[in-house]
Amino acid sequence: MNKHYIIPVFVPHLGCPHDCVFCNQRKIASSIVDITPRDVRYTIEKYLSFFRQNSFIEIAFYGGSFTAIDTKLQNDLLGIAYEYKAKGIIDEIRLSTRPDAIDEGILSNLKRYGVDTIELGVQSMDQEVLDASGRGHTIEDVYSSVELIKKNGFKLGLQMMIGLPKDTLNKDIKTAMKFIEMDPDCVRIYPTLVIKDTYLEKLLYNKKYKALETEEAVYISTILLTLFYLENINVIRVGLQVTENIQLGEDVVSGPFHPAFRQIVESNIYRQILDAYLKQKNIDTDKKELTITANSKEISNISGQKSSNINYLIKRYGFKKVRIYQGDVDMSHIYIEIDGICDKIDLKLYMKSYISEYI
Ligand code: SF4
Repeated sequence: MNKHYIIPVFVPHLGCPHDCVFCNQRKIASSIVDITPRDVRYTIEKYLSFFRQNSFIEIAFYGGSFTAIDTKLQNDLLGIAYEYKAKGIIDEIRLSTRPDAIDEGILSNLKRYGVDTIELGVQSMDQEVLDASGRGHTIEDVYSSVELIKKNGFKLGLQMMIGLPKDTLNKDIKTAMKFIEMDPDCVRIYPTLVIKDTYLEKLLYNKKYKALETEEAVYISTILLTLFYLENINVIRVGLQVTENIQLGEDVVSGPFHPAFRQIVESNIYRQILDAYLKQKNIDTDKKELTITANSKEISNISGQKSSNINYLIKRYGFKKVRIYQGDVDMSHIYIEIDGICDKIDLKLYMKSYISEYI
């Protein structure tokens, strides 16, 4: 498969009339410089020089509300991206926007500029959470924009946040289930972080908001990621990307920030699968050796960060030793050998068993 590269272009929304509690764009507007078509061209050229030949290249306009910015600026920026797409230098264009910034006119404009994927910053499918987070849009806005995006033949991305004000585990699960019903092409899961100069920071200091602990965010994200995996929905991000400012002690005041957040969640899914398997089989594990053979791509997820899963299995089940080997195994199975007895495990089967207590 060709390597997939993304050229990220961040489009700030300086005049945004909304007040999302987690967003600092309005407060720091004076220090943000408006993006120009020349910046887009510069960014594209810079990234292209790093990419391998014959790769799949996508330009992504990030920033949360692309279609809410001035139409002329949208078209000027998209015009540059489209120029590269028309020449066959890049393959696709994606952008992210708000659910209430979509209508037929906007979509037909995006079509003219060859946009392929539209990601919606939905954040939650619970109105109370949306209101408490100052999102300024409704659940109905989500449904109607999803319908229009699909009807017009765009690929659909849905983004959700966990740990927003008034959010709960049940509401996160409900949001994920509604996402699944809408059948998106991709999903992103972001734990809420408290960023400097936001309303959430004020709420935090006034003790009206408490960010999730990393363990809680991992626990919730494990359930959500499993739900999406079971439905074969492509989750393209779990956790925020580390940038110069997105780091604890920099702009992140509080919250479940970890540079390897997704890997911790993926490892936790394996822990749940192994727990479900060992519980169901009721095998005598005391002082036995456990050998797991898996696809090479999954070895570090099975071991866990700093061998955390291996240590957990030894401590919880009394294994004398846990070994993990790579082998000729597809991604949907692993082999387990305990005391000379070997079993081929269907990962989804045990994901279902783990998730059954939550849905
Ligand atoms: S996150 Fe909310 S406040 Fe920030 S730019 Fe987007 S819509 Fe505006």
